[in-house]
Amino acid sequence: MLAELLGLLVPPRCALCACGCSSREQLCEACESRLDRLRPRSAAITGVDHAWSAAPYDGAARELVAGLKFAARLRLARRAAAAIAARAPPELLAGSIVPVPAAPWRRRWRGFDPAEAIAAALAVEAGLPIHRCLRRSQGRRQVGRPRAERLADPPRVQVVGSPPGHALLVDDVLTTGATLGACARALRTRGAERVTALTFARS
Ligand SMILES: [Zn+2]
Repeated sequence: MLAELLGLLVPPRCALCACGCSSREQLCEACESRLDRLRPRSAAITGVDHAWSAAPYDGAARELVAGLKFAARLRLARRAAAAIAARAPPELLAGSIVPVPAAPWRRRWRGFDPAEAIAAALAVEAGLPIHRCLRRSQGRRQVGRPRAERLADPPRVQVVGSPPGHALLVDDVLTTGATLGACARALRTRGAERVTALTFARS
């Protein structure tokens, strides 16, 4: 109702390309079809039973991540979560969602955490519980470091409280897998038996 009233005052715009679109949709038809054309991907990460991404980090998926992370268009987190929920093999949408924690400096700088936003939206979309049991210490920045260096010096992750038996790690983008691997190791050390990782995009 409010969205419709607002739509009369401010015409709704596609969250990716800014062209006009229906007030009920987040993306215009053209951007939706660009997103639809991107195919899901799987990855092998030590300690993770299944790592799956809804799309390659390319085209509309890359624009969506940029809009969410750098322009703080938080509604895009719902669209990313919807893509994961709609495309993931059903057997992977199980367990307790565990958001991959952002480095503290990054969260302070952005004022929000894109992975947490996608994880919270996915919990609603897929009807799964969410378990915020991971914390990241300051550590070194991963962005901009060579792949081999990132893998050799993964971020330090701690489990707070007891982790779920089946953890479903959720992040925005999978790059080297160093962060997901560190999260999986921390969860398994504290007793998690199964660790699945779902991300919106894979670079
Ligand atoms: Zn568009």
